[in-house]
Amino acid sequence: MSSSSRRSLVSAGLAVLLAVACGACGTSSTQDVADDRPANVAGETSTLVEETPPVVAPAYNPLTPDEARVILDRGTEWAFSGEYVNTKTDGTYICRQCNMPLYRSSDKFESECGWPSFDDEIPGRVQRLRDPDGSRTEIRCANCGAHLGHVFLGEGFTKKDTRHCVNSISLRFVPAGEPLPAPIVLETKP
Ligand SMILES: [Zn+2]
Repeated sequence: MSSSSRRSLVSAGLAVLLAVACGACGTSSTQDVADDRPANVAGETSTLVEETPPVVAPAYNPLTPDEARVILDRGTEWAFSGEYVNTKTDGTYICRQCNMPLYRSSDKFESECGWPSFDDEIPGRVQRLRDPDGSRTEIRCANCGAHLGHVFLGEGFTKKDTRHCVNSISLRFVPAGEPLPAPIVLETKP
């Protein structure tokens, strides 16, 4: 073998060795990067987005403009216009804004005043406040503050001598046997 042939063989051998070494090195480092960083970063990001529940603030039932005029602005519906004036069905009257049970049908009586009349409330559910004019006593839902109407004493309608004069639109009637919706109790009152 000539000296030039020997050099060629040595050169070729070195080239193969370098190619294998560099190839292995390059392949290895490329796979490390591909396997670790992009896959983990992408996985964590999509998992966070999918598992974060939407933030929905608890709130009372939405009100129509007519409901808001009575319940929030302390208005009064026209006499004999409310949907529960003549209702005699057994059941429970709940607050239209927060679903809290306020009155039982067994306490409803016929006063012919034009609004649903009750001579008692479910204990603790109705708040009484003196009207600014000092002549009447306003009644509100003790849970959410919804305006209900007024309460009058000493009229002699029933033995309890009490008349809760309530706007139908402040109430929702749930017939006996039907499930009552869960009351909405907010930690922070609006
Ligand atoms: Zn209420």
